[in-house]
Amino acid sequence: GSPIPSAAGATPAMAQWFAAKAAHPDALIFFRMGDFFELFFGDAITGGEALGLAVAHRGEHGGQPIPMAGVPVHAMEAYLARLIRRGFRVAICEQMESPEQAKARKAPAVRREVVRIVTPATVTEESLLEGARPSWLLALVPDGADRVGAAWLDVSTGHVCTEGLPAAELGALLARLDPAEVLAPEALAGGDVLTPLGWVVREASPPREGARLAAEAWGVASLDAFGSFSEGEAAALAMALDYVRATSGGSLPRLAPPECRGGEGTLRMDAATRRSLEILKAERGGKDCLLAAVDRTLTAAGARELAARLAAPLAEADPISARHDAVAFLLAATTVRGRLREALKGAPDMARALGRLSVERFFPRDLAALRDGLARAEAMRTALSEAAGVPPVPPLLLAAGEALLPGNSPRAELARALAAELPARLEEGGVVGTGYDGELDALRRLRDDARGAILALQMDLAQAWGVASLKIRHHQQLGFLAEVPAAAGEVLLRQKPEPGPMAPVHRQSMANAHRFTCGALSDLDRKLSQARDEAGKREAMVVRHLRKLCLDAAAGIAAAARAAAEVDVHAAAAELAAFGGWCQPEMPDRPDFCITGGRHPVVESALRRNRGPAFVPNDADLSPGRRLCLLTGPNMAGKSTYLRQNALMVVLAQAGLFVPAESARIGLVDRLFSRVGTADDIAGGRSTFMVEMSETAAVLNLAGPRSFVVLDEVGRGTATWDGLAIAWAVLEALHDRLRSRTLFATHFHELTALAGKLPELAPAAMKVREHRGQVVFQHLVGPGASERSWGLHVARLAGVPREVVGRAETVLASLEERARGLDPLSGELPLFAAPAAGSATPTQPAVEADPLRAALEGLDPDAMAPREALEALYRLKSMF
Ligand code: ADP
Repeated sequence: GSPIPSAAGATPAMAQWFAAKAAHPDALIFFRMGDFFELFFGDAITGGEALGLAVAHRGEHGGQPIPMAGVPVHAMEAYLARLIRRGFRVAICEQMESPEQAKARKAPAVRREVVRIVTPATVTEESLLEGARPSWLLALVPDGADRVGAAWLDVSTGHVCTEGLPAAELGALLARLDPAEVLAPEALAGGDVLTPLGWVVREASPPREGARLAAEAWGVASLDAFGSFSEGEAAALAMALDYVRATSGGSLPRLAPPECRGGEGTLRMDAATRRSLEILKAERGGKDCLLAAVDRTLTAAGARELAARLAAPLAEADPISARHDAVAFLLAATTVRGRLREALKGAPDMARALGRLSVERFFPRDLAALRDGLARAEAMRTALSEAAGVPPVPPLLLAAGEALLPGNSPRAELARALAAELPARLEEGGVVGTGYDGELDALRRLRDDARGAILALQMDLAQAWGVASLKIRHHQQLGFLAEVPAAAGEVLLRQKPEPGPMAPVHRQSMANAHRFTCGALSDLDRKLSQARDEAGKREAMVVRHLRKLCLDAAAGIAAAARAAAEVDVHAAAAELAAFGGWCQPEMPDRPDFCITGGRHPVVESALRRNRGPAFVPNDADLSPGRRLCLLTGPNMAGKSTYLRQNALMVVLAQAGLFVPAESARIGLVDRLFSRVGTADDIAGGRSTFMVEMSETAAVLNLAGPRSFVVLDEVGRGTATWDGLAIAWAVLEALHDRLRSRTLFATHFHELTALAGKLPELAPAAMKVREHRGQVVFQHLVGPGASERSWGLHVARLAGVPREVVGRAETVLASLEERARGLDPLSGELPLFAAPAAGSATPTQPAVEADPLRAALEGLDPDAMAPREALEALYRLKSMF
């Protein structure tokens, strides 16, 4: 932003502003002045512009007017949301005392302090968070030469995790978490993984003795209490905690004990795979992602849990089967599922309400959220416990049932305490209902009595002063006043009143009325405001007590919230299975992959939504003996849909969900690679072919016999013979060396010749029919190779002019004629010979059409206008 002017000669309030700005130079200062937060100087310009505020000027500094823009306090959240989305940080500089208190201590200005820094990952306000997405703060610390310690936490729910990983897998972690904000030391922050991808990155340095600091935050002697954390993980954890403390005025929210993820338990997917499969977000505008297509959860916490499961599917058989068992049970037990979903529908977000309570930035509705959420949880527990019988309730649901009723649940207490109608803000009063706290009730009675007495006094005064239209009104600064019309007021002013409690004392004159008070009215006014203050204080105390009850039970409530979210996910998966024809995948302990009637959930639902044709289900079989499937077929025939749908089966199955198929047998996958769709590296500036090759390289370096690979059009980005050679070699490597289950789509029909040489290669083709010269895509995968490429048909379909397509047909025919006799396997082409050691460069084969003959054949005299004929003649002549 613009340079900060010197603080010299500032007024006392502005001096506070300069101090705040000096402490937080990279943040906009929201400077509290009464009912507004004001931005000054450069902040007013940049912030004002971002928010569309008019910039005014106020006072002078150094002989220059001070630019200023303000937002009303009550509308602050909406403005904060916009600033955060634009990447700003905001320091909230609050008034720490009332003007009266400042006056009493003879201070030149009310005391102000920065109480909080609002950043994308440290907000807790409902309106600043996305309900269905976690809001991760990710901290990264280098750990030795080529490893990284990572810690991530969600302040809004108190969820904390760590993981140690190879530096090379950082991109995959970022893609999996999609963090709201990343903290990293300079060495990493400027690195080529973090910068280009548009993450909000802040430089930070890990504190020394991270492990001790982190342990202290949870009140344990050592982090070992929660698992085994590497030095880097502990340092990252401490760095994240530091940041949260620094942004929230020194305190920490409630945080669950950190979970240490070895990373071994999850299905590995790199960033390119996630992009290609569009798991949590669609890549190219408009289309849906997997999450959106399969989400049948009913709560925000359930949606977050589902997203987390899809982002990090498991890679161990037992926990996966446990989830499948839960889904299967709920699929069969329709009544139980109905009752659970009834209870889940509209259930509040307890985890986030608890987060707001723990940082003391909460609203009455957060207390209500716990009251109602815990009631829903109890209803769910009852539904589950009444389900006990045959078949037995599976372990995951039993455990959830236990967790749904926390030991010291504050539900009953909250239910007794909270008023039926809650105000939006605590300060408005009326949070606690009548009958819960005797003292509060008594104070409120006093307050109401005083109010009643004031009403009664209005009648008395009207009589005593002889003004029937006298009204007692409340005035912001002056308190209660008796207002009489101007004429009657003049009379009262001229009278010499008899001393006494009802004697009018003039306070204010206006154009058409006069305002008076009297001893009795001031007395009542004082009593009323005293009673109101007392009642307010008492209510605040009761609310503090309620908050404490909730925080004392926080661990239990958080567990209940989590259990409810898990049940939501299981019931949602069962719902999909019941209404969408999804099945429970069998997960054998060998590298099988056998799907019948599989569908692509996103394409299927898009077709249905647009009332398009029905989705055509397809089988897939990559069992041992036929681990590689070589898929050919024209563009638009459904190749990439087929490739992706099978990769998505793996994601869904290992996330613990059912899959969109009639039957599925999926041997556990350790790494999933998907290279489907255009490889465009938006920020990296590398050529498409370079990107394609580096993504292919990652597959070849990391895939193994338990991996699952889908590759589309390897080698498309370069010259034909280069591309074919690369595709060929990649296919051989996958077959002979990596032995991964592989779906390999290609437009190089020459590759189908490999089927005879590679025993585990099974060719398949997208079925296409020709109907009156038009191609008809059947979207059906069958055995064998595609006869031809159909490229010209697609060109015609796409509206390429007739004569160009006609010309292409001729050229093609002539090329094919020339190429005939060059049998790829005959050994004539060096490319197809057995790879000789050291020689990797294929040479261009001698396929060369006679251009003159081809051009001549392409002419259709009947279809030509005389002028075109003449031009063709010139063209032919020039080729001679
Ligand atoms: P390709 O990768 O062969 O160019 P796509 O997989 O992109 O083709 O499919 C093109 C379009 O065909 C899709 O957008 C979809 O509308 C339709 N499609 C693909 N597969 C199927 C299917 N199994 N059933 C129905 N329509 C399909």
